[in-house]
Amino acid sequence: MTEKEKFIKFVEEKNSTQPEFIQCVREIIESVWDVYNSSDKFKKARILERMVEPERIIIFRVSWQDDAGDVHVNRGYRVQFNSAIGPYKGGLRFHPSVNLGLLKFLAFEQIFKNSLTTLPMGGGKGGADFDPKGKSDNEVMRFCHAFMSELYRHIGPDTDVPAGDIGVGAREIGYMFGKYKKIKNEFTGVLTGKGTTWGGSLIRPEATGYGLVYFVENMLDLAGKNLKDKIVAISGSGNVAQYAAEKVMHLGGKVIMLSDSDSTIIDEKGLDTDKLEHVKYIKNVERGRIKEYADKYPAVCVTGKNVWRVIREKNIKVDIALPCATQNELNAENTEALIKNGCFCVAAGANMPLTSDAVALLRKNKILYGPGKAANAGGVATSGLEMTQNSMRFNWTREEVDAKLKEIMKSIHTQCVKYGSDEDYVDYVKGANIAGFLKVANAMLEQGVC
Ligand code: NDP
Repeated sequence: MTEKEKFIKFVEEKNSTQPEFIQCVREIIESVWDVYNSSDKFKKARILERMVEPERIIIFRVSWQDDAGDVHVNRGYRVQFNSAIGPYKGGLRFHPSVNLGLLKFLAFEQIFKNSLTTLPMGGGKGGADFDPKGKSDNEVMRFCHAFMSELYRHIGPDTDVPAGDIGVGAREIGYMFGKYKKIKNEFTGVLTGKGTTWGGSLIRPEATGYGLVYFVENMLDLAGKNLKDKIVAISGSGNVAQYAAEKVMHLGGKVIMLSDSDSTIIDEKGLDTDKLEHVKYIKNVERGRIKEYADKYPAVCVTGKNVWRVIREKNIKVDIALPCATQNELNAENTEALIKNGCFCVAAGANMPLTSDAVALLRKNKILYGPGKAANAGGVATSGLEMTQNSMRFNWTREEVDAKLKEIMKSIHTQCVKYGSDEDYVDYVKGANIAGFLKVANAMLEQGVC
């Protein structure tokens, strides 16, 4: 067994019930092992062993009452993984599938993503196994208040600054911020994704989706291509998917698919501004299902199958695939069909949306592939800009934030190319992992053993 295999085995044994965490650690180790091994300083300081162990994990009970007065108990978490380059930063996820292993994977991924943004942010993630779906606004408020009544002890503008993720949008951030302010009697930038009249940054809601498409533009540009008239499939219909679709449309691409956890819709004519506004209305205002899209516009709706399976089964041709729903949604079988049908670019709006063998297929076939830690870093980058504006007590304009976001996505692309370029292929996975790793590893080294 090689030293690398031994290390991976050590991580597997220590975290045997956390498959997503192991999957994500393995990918990083595969990319950075040679760089790590070539440095005696890194090895002597056991940087990798320290990096795969969270600095702190907080687990707590969240008790709350529904509208009928019944009491419910959920489990809340915050994984404070690495603070070498700044306060912990990463979203909160409210979804029934949330567990410690899932949050450890997301927090670990966040360390490298935040490092790539060039901003001073460490890696963290949190959430609860609470399902906001089907709950009234008052129930969501009670849950958020109960969640924050414990979390407030562990966070702060210079300690840990959470944001949104699946199931946590502007409404939930508002309720949590209100509770934090009440308990602490402080108006500080303790959360990002806030409303723009109370400290939120313009462009933060759009940032992950827009940033994803800016990253794709950079990849295409280097490959001598562009988005004009390209057929694009997007999974999900939440925050990331909506704004990815909007930016693809701005840049002349044609978005033909969206989804949610129930169904996939195919609109061969492509989305336009009115259609996208309707999607936003269905998902953000009504909090309804994507299948309602087909009640208003001519579209095929397939229930119980995700975008990638529908593409394979119906043999749909797409040029660009943007998975923006959840982890491991795109497997090798469906990736093979995408490649066969001429897809030349895949970029991850979601975190780790491809299985490991799906990623391997893309790399083997030299398909442009932007991994999440690079391609979807625009959201956290703009959260970082929100923190800066909060500290300055000053707001930049929409245009100023958008320009900074574009610049950051370009810089992330440049770092990936620097560390991931081969003769005829840019391996963005390797590039992103090495660039993200080096900054954090050097910071840890300089701060000594702690
Ligand atoms: P939202 O909750 O706004 O939207 C999530 C979308 O994905 C919804 O359409 C949801 O369907 C669908 N979805 C969620 N879970 C599943 C599942 N298990 N199977 C199928 N569909 C699913 O979340 P976001 O758009 O914010 O996040 C999407 C992804 O992007 C996540 O991986 C997140 O970690 C990542 N991300 C988000 C960032 C952000 O700024 N928001 C930043 C960087 C990454 P339904 O409506 O039925 O639940």
